[in-house]
Amino acid sequence: MSWSDCGTDSKGRPIGYAHAGTCDHQGCEIEIDRGLSYACGGMHGQDEVSCEKYFCPDHLTYMVDSDDNLHNICTECADLLKSEGEWVDDDEEGTIVRTAITKARGHQ
Ligand SMILES: [Zn+2]
Ligand SMILES: [Zn+2]
Repeated sequence: MSWSDCGTDSKGRPIGYAHAGTCDHQGCEIEIDRGLSYACGGMHGQDEVSCEKYFCPDHLTYMVDSDDNLHNICTECADLLKSEGEWVDDDEEGTIVRTAITKARGHQ
């Protein structure tokens, strides 16, 4: 498998950087490709902190600190994470972190 052509997502859209698309943010028509640089969470498919969609840089604005890896995620995922109460904004770092991490830091 090459990163230029990674198969299809759950909606049957071709993914990988060889495939052109538009930003998945509702109403945004900016042209991107469906490569990793535009993928929510920096990886194809859905995971704990990100969805499987692709966004322009304007809509991939949040950074989440997951297992010491920084991922860019979309506004939708950021809102979802924060609404669940397990993740909060870390104003110092400008990232979204697990509440467990901030609590641990508080004990130091
Ligand atoms: Zn997302
Ligand atoms: Zn966009």
